[in-house]
Amino acid sequence: MVEETMRTFFTFLAKNKPLIKVARSTGLTLGGSHFVGGQTVDGVVDQVKAFNEKGIGVTIDCLGEFINNEEDAKETVDLCRNAIAAIQSHGLNGQISLKLFSVGLELGEEVTLSNMREILEEAKKHNVFVTLNMEEYVNCGKIIEIFTKLRKEYDNIGIALQANLFRTETDVEKLEELSPAIRFVKGAYKESRDVDINEKKLVDENYKMLVKNHMLKGHYVQVATHDNDMIDFVKELVSEHNIPYDQFEFQMLQGMRDEKQKELAEEGYKMVVYVPYGPDWYTYFMKRLAERPANVGFTLMSVFRR
Ligand SMILES: Cc1cc2nc3c(=O)[nH]c(=O)nc-3n(C[C@H](O)[C@H](O)[C@H](O)COP(=O)(O)OP(=O)(O)OC[C@H]3O[C@@H](n4cnc5c(N)ncnc54)[C@H](O)[C@@H]3O)c2cc1C
Repeated sequence: MVEETMRTFFTFLAKNKPLIKVARSTGLTLGGSHFVGGQTVDGVVDQVKAFNEKGIGVTIDCLGEFINNEEDAKETVDLCRNAIAAIQSHGLNGQISLKLFSVGLELGEEVTLSNMREILEEAKKHNVFVTLNMEEYVNCGKIIEIFTKLRKEYDNIGIALQANLFRTETDVEKLEELSPAIRFVKGAYKESRDVDINEKKLVDENYKMLVKNHMLKGHYVQVATHDNDMIDFVKELVSEHNIPYDQFEFQMLQGMRDEKQKELAEEGYKMVVYVPYGPDWYTYFMKRLAERPANVGFTLMSVFRR
């Protein structure tokens, strides 16, 4: 009950336009730096270097939460280009992630494809891998369609798919011929019961099934979870079927389970941390608090430790 109220509260804050405006102008405050790499690419580089020194790679998530016109979408393209340039010039162990929404999904397929091609061309030049985040159910089909088109043109692109959705198993089957790298996630959005499995135990089972099938077919998997049960499942699967360590990676969000990230890297697994960056840090941060109210504890600590 308390968790549900906090969830509703932080979801409300995430959508509050006046607060978003203030946050853009004040910089990373309220403990946001625990979960967000930085507002500018220079701010992110030091964070990434610190992860890399611990043997941990990163995927820099270029945040673009509010896109009303083509100019806004171009801002995200620039964020991505700057992140790719930083990875190249600082020799970072890094990839990038983004939402298609942030490069114009709502403005039409042509704009989105054109912006994505610009990003992917730049990324390809510097050997940088790009993952499309998965968004609300209503956009799932469109995102997969655009991914399919781009994957036929580029090798350096993968996609996130959500284990909480009934449709995902069929989506993976349809994508199979492209041998795609897939980031499996449990799913961050609350969807309606007719499309969402909506029961933790069943979502977990679906997650394991999806990861197992994709791995056993020899495709690359990004295992994006903080859940020990999923992590142990993958470790056993890999050991049982002699799956090479370069066919998968574990991924976690910045600020979540730092010790576990370090432990997995020290055990020799590829560990990648998702480091968000960009002026729209506030919405991302509020969404993390809504998702796991326990994160409020981290936030308070980082506010009071100053
Ligand atoms: C790299 C990455 C990328 C993502 N990309 C997307 C995306 O594109 N689209 C999307 O919809 N969602 C995305 N997500 C979010 C994802 O869908 C889930 O909402 C989120 O990861 C929570 O699910 P979980 O698998 O971590 O496990 P949960 O089911 O939330 O947690 C299960 C268990 O994990 C343990 N645990 C979790 N957090 C902690 C912690 N901080 N400390 C200690 N134990 C903990 C606890 O034991 C908990 O019971 C992404 C997540 C990651 C990590």
